[in-house]
Amino acid sequence: PAKEDAGREVKKVTRLGLEAKKEENLSEWYTQVITKAEMIEYYDVSGCYILRPWSYSIWDEIKNFFDAEIKKLGVENCYFPMFVSHAALEREKTHIADFAPEVAWVTKSGQSDLNEPIAIRPTSETVMYPSYAKWIRSHRDLPVRLNQWCNVVRWEFKHPQPFLRTREFLWQEGHTAFATRAEAEDEVFKILDLYARVYEELLAVPVIKGRKTEKEKFAGGDFTTTTEIYISASGRGIQGATSHHLGQNFSKMFEIMYENPDTQEMEHVHQNSWGITTRTIGVMAMVHGDNTGLVLPPRVASVQAIVVPCGITASLSDADRQSLIKSCEELENILVQAGIKAKGDYRDNYSPGWKFNHWELKGVPVRIELGPRDVKNGELVAVRRDTGDKLTLKQASAAEGIKKLLEDIQSSLFAKAKKIQDEYVALSHDWQDFCHQLDQKKIIMSPFCGEGECEEKIKKDSARDAVVEEGAPSMGAKSLCYPFQQPGDIKADMKCIHPDCKAKPIKYCLFGRSY
Ligand code: AMP
Repeated sequence: PAKEDAGREVKKVTRLGLEAKKEENLSEWYTQVITKAEMIEYYDVSGCYILRPWSYSIWDEIKNFFDAEIKKLGVENCYFPMFVSHAALEREKTHIADFAPEVAWVTKSGQSDLNEPIAIRPTSETVMYPSYAKWIRSHRDLPVRLNQWCNVVRWEFKHPQPFLRTREFLWQEGHTAFATRAEAEDEVFKILDLYARVYEELLAVPVIKGRKTEKEKFAGGDFTTTTEIYISASGRGIQGATSHHLGQNFSKMFEIMYENPDTQEMEHVHQNSWGITTRTIGVMAMVHGDNTGLVLPPRVASVQAIVVPCGITASLSDADRQSLIKSCEELENILVQAGIKAKGDYRDNYSPGWKFNHWELKGVPVRIELGPRDVKNGELVAVRRDTGDKLTLKQASAAEGIKKLLEDIQSSLFAKAKKIQDEYVALSHDWQDFCHQLDQKKIIMSPFCGEGECEEKIKKDSARDAVVEEGAPSMGAKSLCYPFQQPGDIKADMKCIHPDCKAKPIKYCLFGRSY
């Protein structure tokens, strides 16, 4: 009885299931999913969160994949300090103008003021490039291709949300320098493709690749490429990861030069910087999660299949019970040997039903149920987290069966998200229609002149003209990107989407409410 009481106690304090619906109260749903799935613990500094093993393991998967891929490209890892001097931070004016409001400063040690306040990196261009100026002398020193896995701090004023917008976040930042612009540009797109693969192949989240407008590009860079994601639950776009071509702006400010062997002249290097953050995890939760909890794509799940012994009734003898657990362990072992991340839940203070809920909430892709009758028949029951479908498999071919199932889940999660994305990316050539589509939670491709002022007006006026659903913040459309895959050519008679704009459109630009 003591054990049973203990079990009941646990149930009482951890209200297991979600108490908010994704379609009714998204922000409450999100909070519950990430806490109840044990991904996040809240913390007493606003905008900072604890990443528990269940979410950190996803970051590990992303890291492992991306790190291996950039090493194939010749990138090396390193580590620079998290502190920046005032002087270095201010070297590139446009860059610092953009970041200044979000920079956190250390001003004291103990009770005494520091002689000079020291900034905490919001990104490391200004930390790293003074060294690049020392290390690069001749064309033989190029390319320099460095990356670091680290944290950065941006004291954001916008409403913080775990993973999606945090004041401290984890990321990798790549910083490279080349002799020619062509080499640098080539890398920008290669890295962007890797970011797209992180989202599409690992997280099963489709992206739209494109280039940022002048207004939205990285401060101090030449151009920014991006992977944009559509979050259907909120009807908003979010910037997934960015790969910037910095041109020679920073190399001029930091005097990073090499001697050109052909001309014997000193020339400025061509640079890139690129980063992907723990935002990825929040995007994944938003895109795939449902009203039962998290849904993990198999490729990033630290537990891909959870084995739950079933049918342990009071009439089952101790010996039969032990034999069932043994069968479960054997099965678990076979799956692990085959490279599947399988785990058995043999806790005896929880019922199978409780365990089903628990692992569904945590998003484990496949549940395997094994009872005495299944053992006798040489079978097992596998249940998909994404669809709830149950299927009976032969134990003899369990490993192949579960592997195939995991692959199916991975690809169908992607297909489902892609179908939604396709439905919600609209095309519009008319302002009224544009605002209407926005209100239908769509993101919209429209001819655009590219001017910052016009972009500002589109944002302001779409907030006014689009009927915003009750309770939702009145939010205008921001530019997300010029998609590389354009819906068509810009024709001579086309007009920029803002009704007052007299300038010629240059490209179709994707607009939407955004994070
Ligand atoms: P940036 O260096 O500004 O280009 O940022 C690189 C990437 O970091 C962006 O593409 C976002 O996906 C992500 N990011 C920006 N701000 C935050 C934040 N506050 N929390 C988490 N991720 C962020």
